[in-house]
Amino acid sequence: MKAEIIAVGTEILLGQIVNTNASFLARQLALLGIDAEQQQVVGDNGERLDAALTLAEGRADLVILIGGLGPTADDITKQVLAQHIGKPLVTNFQAIEKLLAFAQQRQTPLTANDRVQAALPFDAQPLANRVGLAVGAISETPKATYVLLPGPPREFTVMVEEQLTPYLLTHRGAQQVLKSKVLRFYGIGESLLTTDLADLIDAQSEPTIASYIKEHEVTLRLTAKAADEAAADALIAPIEQEILAREGQYFYGYGDDNSLAQELANALANAHVTITAAESLTAGAFQAALADIPGISTWFKGGFVTYSNHTKATLLGLDEAIIDRDGAVSEATAVAMAEAARDKVDADLAVSMTGVAGPGPDDGVDAGTVWIGLAKRGEKTQATLYHFPGARNDVRDRAVKAAMFAALRAIQPQ
Ligand code: ATP
Ligand code: MG
Repeated sequence: MKAEIIAVGTEILLGQIVNTNASFLARQLALLGIDAEQQQVVGDNGERLDAALTLAEGRADLVILIGGLGPTADDITKQVLAQHIGKPLVTNFQAIEKLLAFAQQRQTPLTANDRVQAALPFDAQPLANRVGLAVGAISETPKATYVLLPGPPREFTVMVEEQLTPYLLTHRGAQQVLKSKVLRFYGIGESLLTTDLADLIDAQSEPTIASYIKEHEVTLRLTAKAADEAAADALIAPIEQEILAREGQYFYGYGDDNSLAQELANALANAHVTITAAESLTAGAFQAALADIPGISTWFKGGFVTYSNHTKATLLGLDEAIIDRDGAVSEATAVAMAEAARDKVDADLAVSMTGVAGPGPDDGVDAGTVWIGLAKRGEKTQATLYHFPGARNDVRDRAVKAAMFAALRAIQPQ
């Protein structure tokens, strides 16, 4: 089943109100596995609404109209639809009873305009309005099924949830679900990743493969449509395995809401590893990111911000001769910082970051040059040199991420 939403209202076209009803309904249709490939917004104009109906019924089996069911002159949706499908408007008994009771309560007469709210296209199924007066409708014709829904969001959402959804559940045809899996990568650019996977991306159908870049990371979203979740999982699994076989060295976790910090925290907890850090250019950003994760205090006791040579000596007890000889941004300094931090805190793992954030070079070292050290209890300390592109804070953020990724790999070797 293919659906198309038409929101009616000049207010939407002018940007005076936001089309939240369409967004709500689109989410609901997606949950029901009903394709809604196109939407329209049309003003309160009969001719243009009629043209919108012609367009929609040419490409969808279910045309859902939002708004314009009220009693005022600009509320024309029901009248235009009735004319379009060649059915007269007839009064719905329950709806007119409700209007009469309402009028009686207020002691006001019921006008002809008011009565329109109780009218439906001939032989349409009424959708009762529990929180308002205008009745909704479902009108099935050989060409398409048309749905009329009121504009006020409270009336609209209640009618969608209580009346339209049960109808769609029994009429949506073969059921399909849409399932996505998000794979997160660090240390590879989007263009390289998508080049490596070009054959899979070119051949994609179920699942589709979409790449996104966010905050110096790349994610891939695999999405499959199938009869049920298990069938969608079965479509995703072989493509996921192939991607991981090729790019596993950069892969670090699943999910939209995940992060390197979260994965690192999980890995520390799973492996019972305590961590500390000695940070120069990142000035505590690594430790702050880790501390964002609830429960990290069991594995992270604290660490060091040693921005100057002086604090590297006073806080970490580094031999200033190392810095004098090799420089603050050097392998020897990164190694010494990591080892000193590990030993002072008695942690299982220590990470050090020392580099030039920029914008300009410092002491003859180019901006973006960063050494990251990893000192693991009982193992030889490693330090790796990075050249990060970007502005000052990009370099600092990339250094934090690279350190997290390195720590993660130190705990979970590939
Ligand atoms: P009423 O009986 O109140 O006139 P109606 O069914 O005729 O209801 P409209 O006149 O089109 O609906 O819209 C009434 C109000 O509902 C609008 O002023 C707006 O606040 C809200 N509304 C209408 N359409 C939408 C939409 N697509 N998204 C969000 N809000 C909407
Ligand atoms: Mg109205």
